[in-house]
Amino acid sequence: MNSYKVILFYKYIDIENPAEMVEQHLGWCLENDIRGRVFFAKEGVNGTVSGTTENIVKYKKHLTSFPGFEDIRFKEDNSNEHTFKKMHVRLKNQIVNGELNDVSLTNGGKRLSPEELFKFYEEQKDFVIVDARNWYESKIGKFRNAITPPMKNFREWKKVVDEDLKKYKDKTVVTYCTGGIRCEKASAYMIEQGFKDVYQLDGGIFNYIKKFPDTHWQGGMFVFDERRVVNPNSNEELKHIAECHFCGKPTSYYINCHNLDCDRIIVSCHECKVENDYCCSVECRRSPNRRNVYHG
Ligand SMILES: [Zn+2]
Ligand SMILES: [Zn+2]
Repeated sequence: MNSYKVILFYKYIDIENPAEMVEQHLGWCLENDIRGRVFFAKEGVNGTVSGTTENIVKYKKHLTSFPGFEDIRFKEDNSNEHTFKKMHVRLKNQIVNGELNDVSLTNGGKRLSPEELFKFYEEQKDFVIVDARNWYESKIGKFRNAITPPMKNFREWKKVVDEDLKKYKDKTVVTYCTGGIRCEKASAYMIEQGFKDVYQLDGGIFNYIKKFPDTHWQGGMFVFDERRVVNPNSNEELKHIAECHFCGKPTSYYINCHNLDCDRIIVSCHECKVENDYCCSVECRRSPNRRNVYHG
């Protein structure tokens, strides 16, 4: 068991010819049975992939062989199988979608280690903690007392800062996201808007829950692969913060409605998911345009 690994990585770095990288990378990954998704843009690389332990070692060696990529930090988890079905490598304008092209990453928030965040909580420091992810991610899990803006996507971050977070300008603010990539821009934008004391959680939720499960993280972590959710806590009270859309039972599991015309994300326990044929409503169950592959 645990003969597979799933890794997460990103780096903001000037890439001269990202289109060329895309082509080469896809070929290499297919040859070495690496699956997942990797984005290249002029501003850097962002990816999450799975493979056998052996192939992941090879992959990391391959990726870090490119000039400037030597110091990419990988976040790693064990798995019993591939967590992706296919390999996608894409050319993008930005490695995270947002309207923050013009923020300078050198102005990013101070890096806060998981240890330091843990201390903030334990010492009851006066700080505001903000989730930089989307509504469906924070619905399943969040840090204790976190502000969870109802964003549909990261493009709404500017609006959230300008309208809702402005009142915390003089406070100590911590931003967090899954692996840290969104916070580099999210925190930089806040600083440009005059926020005085901004931190970004280094390595994101991913790093924190590895080191401090059953502490200040509540619920599951949303992931964009076949696992759908990672559940770090064993303490019953910290396991789930979301409730099944159908029966109300605590769960961290979610599905995309199988009616492709609907496709909405709903939190559902396994029993109700099966009972409702992976659909959010009776109407969707009757739709002729339903997914024919069952996940999870
Ligand atoms: Zn249920
Ligand atoms: Zn539906």
